[in-house]
Amino acid sequence: MFSHEKLRTKIKIISRVLSCLFVANAFRDKIVLVMSSNIQPILDKALAGERLTAEDATALLESYDIAKMGAAAHEIRIRKNPSDVVTYIIDRNINYTNVCNVVCTFCAFYRRPGKPETYVHSIEEIEKRIDETIALGGTGVLMQGGLHPDFNIEWYENLLSTLHAKYPTFQLHCFSPPEIHNISLISKLDYETILHRLKAAGLNSMPGGGGEILDDEVRRRVSTKCTTQEWLDVMRAVHKVGLRSTATMMFGIGDNISHRVRHLQRVRDLQDETGGFSAFISWTFQRENTALGRKIKEEPTGIDYLKMVAVSRLFLDNVQHIQSSWLTQGLRLGQTALRFGADDMGSIMIEENVVSAAGANTEANEKELRYQISEAGFVPQQRDILYNYVNRENVDELDERKSMPLKQLSVAFAD
Ligand code: SF4
Repeated sequence: MFSHEKLRTKIKIISRVLSCLFVANAFRDKIVLVMSSNIQPILDKALAGERLTAEDATALLESYDIAKMGAAAHEIRIRKNPSDVVTYIIDRNINYTNVCNVVCTFCAFYRRPGKPETYVHSIEEIEKRIDETIALGGTGVLMQGGLHPDFNIEWYENLLSTLHAKYPTFQLHCFSPPEIHNISLISKLDYETILHRLKAAGLNSMPGGGGEILDDEVRRRVSTKCTTQEWLDVMRAVHKVGLRSTATMMFGIGDNISHRVRHLQRVRDLQDETGGFSAFISWTFQRENTALGRKIKEEPTGIDYLKMVAVSRLFLDNVQHIQSSWLTQGLRLGQTALRFGADDMGSIMIEENVVSAAGANTEANEKELRYQISEAGFVPQQRDILYNYVNRENVDELDERKSMPLKQLSVAFAD
């Protein structure tokens, strides 16, 4: 009798739990539905040319209605840039040294000073890589390195002026705010003086490296390099001396949606002030071989990436170009981003050492990249670092074999 009573009570509890779960599921579905339907006024606002607020960006990043978001971002993208063209650049990443005197737990590239496997490329080695890049139709180089404890302003000036003298029209897109901050610590100079001198030595523009998440709550946990304010101050100085730069975001390093929105807000505010950012590029943390990768439980998904591309297009109304990061996301997702507000496919990356050390192993040559762009419904167009079109003879011949067998493609891309 007693055990029947107990059984009945258990059944009651289970059925209550089940009905609660049912209600919770229905409620959750409703919330998703409400959130989905709620983004339309935000998208309408963006399409009407009104500026989105941080709350709007948060609501979009929390929503799963990615089709609507992508369509609105694409609409804005075609208003800002020629609708049928997607650009790409042929350049090369040269990492002049892997010696670094700070620790970023998300980095698999750096080696501490004096440790085995450290290197510093000689100028002759760098020139050899530039010659190879030029032979492949490349127009510039993206050169960055670790924060070397001994390299002062003269070391960087010598590097740039030697290269600029030998390759006067080849674009030197080099360094990053943490490197400039490091020079300022070593040479005891302010950012603007450093950038004036580097510009005079041949610097053409600066990549937005070291942005990660522009919020010290996150930065302090993962890195001992420059703070949010220092990153922004270096970029302000870059733009003040008349150079352009890109802005970047690497998310998935323990950040949440609020941190990502604060990052976007800081980029937009500085762009209002200087107008010096040519493009915005986001990508997700690549975890392999990193200390942080062993700790992080939640990784951003493909949907998170596409939402970030779309939201950056919608929120950063003062930034002309949004780049797709096929290198970290794979060619297929990189191609899909072209329908979510991105108008540029980045670089064919003749050499890349930093994110590939952390597991991003996608490769593509110019032909493959052009194929992906045209199969997304756009005309591929080579550009230089400043987004000027570059027209090489006979480049169309690369497009002749458009129908590469699928099997061959999946082997070639290995994404
Ligand atoms: S991300 Fe840059 S600054 Fe940080 S450890 Fe790696 S090389 Fe050094």
